[in-house]
Amino acid sequence: MIAGGGVGGVAAARFLSGELAKHGVEAEVTLVSDRPVHYMPPLFFDVAMGEASPEETRAPLDALERRFGVRVLVDPLAGIEAGENMVRLASGRTLEYDYLIVALGTTMEWSKYPGLAEAGHHNYSEEGAVRLREELSRFRGGDVVILVPETPYRCGIYPFEVATVLGATFRRRGIEASVKILSADPKPVTPLGPDIHGMWYEAFEELGVEFVHHKGLEEVDPERRVVRASNVEERFDLLIKVPPPGLPEPLRASEGFTLESDPRWAPVRGAEFRHPKFDNVFMVGEHSMAPAGLSLAGVFVHNAAFVASNAIAAEVVGYYPGYSYPTATCAGYLGDRAFLGHCEPRYNRELGKYEWGGRCYLGMVSSLARFLKFGFYKSWLDTLK
Ligand SMILES: Cc1cc2nc3c(=O)[nH]c(=O)nc-3n(C[C@H](O)[C@H](O)[C@H](O)COP(=O)(O)OP(=O)(O)OC[C@H]3O[C@@H](n4cnc5c(N)ncnc54)[C@H](O)[C@@H]3O)c2cc1C
Repeated sequence: MIAGGGVGGVAAARFLSGELAKHGVEAEVTLVSDRPVHYMPPLFFDVAMGEASPEETRAPLDALERRFGVRVLVDPLAGIEAGENMVRLASGRTLEYDYLIVALGTTMEWSKYPGLAEAGHHNYSEEGAVRLREELSRFRGGDVVILVPETPYRCGIYPFEVATVLGATFRRRGIEASVKILSADPKPVTPLGPDIHGMWYEAFEELGVEFVHHKGLEEVDPERRVVRASNVEERFDLLIKVPPPGLPEPLRASEGFTLESDPRWAPVRGAEFRHPKFDNVFMVGEHSMAPAGLSLAGVFVHNAAFVASNAIAAEVVGYYPGYSYPTATCAGYLGDRAFLGHCEPRYNRELGKYEWGGRCYLGMVSSLARFLKFGFYKSWLDTLK
């Protein structure tokens, strides 16, 4: 059984059903979702920038049944009784499983900081992206602040993508605006290595983007249009905000699924992303990427789903798991162009975690990378249409 029909859930459904079919195993793979559609969230960025329609960000989940033989149940997960190998659904129904893969993403905890829910815009949902697109179409100039309340956050490169794309767009259209990233990170995504780090600074300089480190967000005042942190105060005409991440409700409601040392995350163990206590439960969603030593990004979730599905198939079929964690290729917008970066996370047995800092390098900076990024997401969704 797979919980969640997002990036991790759909990747796991496809890998696992394909691997079992390849070995002639008769097994039922069921995916439980709270909604009938699958979203590719990076495309919300293209919606906000007016380069894609909301319809282009999603595909129907029932295509998993037609094309991959995966049973799809649209009935939200309410909780997991891992000791009983059972899940509870919102309808009151219970389902038993032999293996469970959990990929429920993270929630947006806007209420964690005073004023953050009321102020500004974001493109972390379809509705948010449409509203940001409308706001940008009305924007005639002034101070833009891109706020990162805390780290880590969903998609580490996102604030830099939005800052450089807006910087380039304003310049092209002759709009007088300052673009500032106000971040809880002291420097832009240092684990991506010196090449990619340097690439951002070069682009910031070229496009007039300013990077400011805040040492703790205190509040946002939507009336005065001010962000106040412990060391700095910034005024804005347009605020674009990144959500503080939180643990999805079904995991909060389930015993053994909140990480004791940091309740934003769900626990995970070992190179195969197993639950620390329950060997047949695999935690591949964004909620478990930080404790696994990885970043909160779809590319890492996708690879976790791949490794976990392979481990399950190997146990069911009876072969030695063949796949270790693959190279993660990320593609990000950079002004009018884009870049491709590659990271090679390795599992550190002593630490019981993956490590990726220092194992990343820059592949390409080119307008071609824009098409590769957009094309990858579109073709991913096209396989479900
Ligand atoms: C604007 C933006 C840009 C991004 N850009 C990139 C990028 O360039 N590269 C990259 O690697 N990543 C990027 N990401 C991040 C990437 O989208 C996430 O890391 C990834 O989607 C996480 O996968 P997931 O399966 O854990 O969560 P999700 O994809 O969010 O899926 C979670 C699923 O769980 C479902 N669900 C929730 N509650 C329940 C419930 N109770 N019962 C059943 N199902 C439930 C949801 O409906 C959803 O389908 C970006 C994200 C955004 C928002």
